[in-house]
Amino acid sequence: MLTGSCHCGAIRIEVARKPRRLTSCNCSICRRHAGLWGYYEPAKVKITARKGAIDRYIWGDKCLRLCRCATCGCTTHWELVKHPRNRMGINFRNFDPSVIATTRIRRFDGADTWKFLD
Ligand SMILES: [Zn+2]
Repeated sequence: MLTGSCHCGAIRIEVARKPRRLTSCNCSICRRHAGLWGYYEPAKVKITARKGAIDRYIWGDKCLRLCRCATCGCTTHWELVKHPRNRMGINFRNFDPSVIATTRIRRFDGADTWKFLD
């Protein structure tokens, strides 16, 4: 079990194992908050947060919402708004740095081609 949390601890995230790879995306929002995404089925992720602890941000074609801590501002995950809802992204910047150090990171061109750059 791997557990991560935002800086202040208001949002906690648990997953059974680390992802096979992490994705660094250059789209208009990912390049700003510099998240490293691991993808999971929502049923395999446990998110614990007090009521009101999560701020959600939806923009553009409104297919996903980005979630961040209302107190410390750390971006923790994203959720799909439209079907199918079998995938979500977890920001592994909120986990122990050893997870990032031991996982392959791929660069995704979310800004333009929607293809991996490496
Ligand atoms: Zn926080």
